[in-house]
Amino acid sequence: MTEQAVREALGRVMDPEIPTISIVDLGMVDEVRVHAEHVEVALLPTFLGCPALDLIEEAVLKAIPSAVVTFRHDPPWSTERITEAGKEGLRRFGIAPPDDVVRCPRCGSEQVLAENLFGPTRCRAIYYCRACRSPFEAFKAI
Ligand SMILES: [Zn+2]
Repeated sequence: MTEQAVREALGRVMDPEIPTISIVDLGMVDEVRVHAEHVEVALLPTFLGCPALDLIEEAVLKAIPSAVVTFRHDPPWSTERITEAGKEGLRRFGIAPPDDVVRCPRCGSEQVLAENLFGPTRCRAIYYCRACRSPFEAFKAI
């Protein structure tokens, strides 16, 4: 397997919680090393407390059976690592991507209120859109 093939396979591994964004577009893949017998894949956990790491490792092993997955905290993952395609994937799932201005992922309005900064996970916060009157989640910029 070439490094390119490994990266393409990783690009099809979706985040278990947000199935419209791949772990590559999420900026989780720090390093790929191809060896004769196995492939080393070093991933950055997206945020301490996001509980999906076991599921992500499982998904990677399903895509690349010879992978050895490790998680690194250095360099720390940050929301700046999310690609443009990744931000689009977040919007499709109804989550506002971490931009300077939080916009409603449904109607694009900036007329939003933070409802609850402690959303379903520590990565996400709940907002309310005053334009289309619906709640939505936003990825916190870190
Ligand atoms: Zn809206």
